Amino acid sequence: MDSAKSKVLLKKGREKSVLQRHPWIYSGSIARVEGNPLPGAVVEVIDARGQWLARGHYSPRSQIRVRLATWEAEEGLDRAFVSRRLQRALAGRAALEADPGTNAYRLVHAESDGLPGVVVDRYGPFLVVQILSQGAAAWQSELVELLAAHCAPQGIYERSDVSVRRLEGLPARSGPLWGREPPPQVEVLEAGRSFLVDLRAGQKTGAYLDQRPNRLRLAPHCAGREVLDAFSYTGWCAVHAAAAGAASVWGWDSSSEALELARENARRNGVDGRVSWESGNSFELLRDCRDSGRLFDVVILDPPKFASRRSQVDAATRGYKDINLLGMQLLRPGGLLATFSCSGHVDADLFQKVVFGAGLDAGRDAQILGRFCQGSDHPVLLSFPQGAYLKGLLCRVY
Ligand code: SAH
Repeated sequence: MDSAKSKVLLKKGREKSVLQRHPWIYSGSIARVEGNPLPGAVVEVIDARGQWLARGHYSPRSQIRVRLATWEAEEGLDRAFVSRRLQRALAGRAALEADPGTNAYRLVHAESDGLPGVVVDRYGPFLVVQILSQGAAAWQSELVELLAAHCAPQGIYERSDVSVRRLEGLPARSGPLWGREPPPQVEVLEAGRSFLVDLRAGQKTGAYLDQRPNRLRLAPHCAGREVLDAFSYTGWCAVHAAAAGAASVWGWDSSSEALELARENARRNGVDGRVSWESGNSFELLRDCRDSGRLFDVVILDPPKFASRRSQVDAATRGYKDINLLGMQLLRPGGLLATFSCSGHVDADLFQKVVFGAGLDAGRDAQILGRFCQGSDHPVLLSFPQGAYLKGLLCRVY
């Protein structure tokens, strides 16, 4: 069977998002599928009047039934396609590549770089790949070959051990794909500071690369200040703050493995004398600080994703409200709150409302000094605004 001829026929009136180049087609928009496409097969998307609209990959198990990759009738989703998109993505990171002080950043940001389901992060001489959809799985071998040819890494490692794979009917997988296997800890640079990353078992692909510009923007505000970094992970934010001259930084995290690396990261940047670590639940630690009257000049709140699904948004906003209220209560008058949300379902407007509510309940006036978003190596396609998941506010709290 020639699966390239398989067709997905849309219900009447469901073509609009496709015409607007949104890359996802949900199962509810589909009237009929012809040609028995296998998982990851290329399908032609046709509207109710029989008009060809776009081409993408089929995911029979997922609610996102088709991930569109091209709207050009002549463009196949073959190796040449992957190569063109990859080269475009790499060219978009040229400024980062030219920066001798930074060698950890995202090279391919899935849908937003025109390669649905494909994430590639660079950590110095190693690349980490995440394959998040059936279509991306169909591209995997070409992708790995092309990455090896274009980026000349020492090794390419797979970290497709994320829960979204289950929605696609793909098993969790991780391990070496090409070249040398990364050592347990890989050294990378961010703005001239050195960090150790665990590519095999660390969170995400090893680090929170999306926060890079925000860490760097925040650091100078910490000079001479007492700083609390309440969700530290492996201490990148805390180390930048200390290196920028913070009087003291207290970094918390619930993961003791993350804090072990954080300790080492502080040591290797010569700031361990001014940074201390605490392993625990930050919700409780924030309350303990409030109850004991402990105050700070800067509080950084970068918690994990509170809402993975729309149905979790209410609970998530309560969580954000709680920690932001506590965060404000721990600030000296005139102190700074840097507060983030990486929940895509909580948009920037809703997040600002939550922080506003926290300020009201805390009885504190707060000004927005700046807004944060994900770094430019995690771009947002205008036709795919869902890609803008990370947002944050820098507030002065009186
Ligand atoms: N700001 C960090 C990234 C933080 S990610 C950076 O720039 O690298 C969120 C962190 O919160 C993770 O390290 C996770 O281990 C931690 N975490 C999750 N739940 C927590 C909790 N209840 N208390 C403390 N830390 C928690």
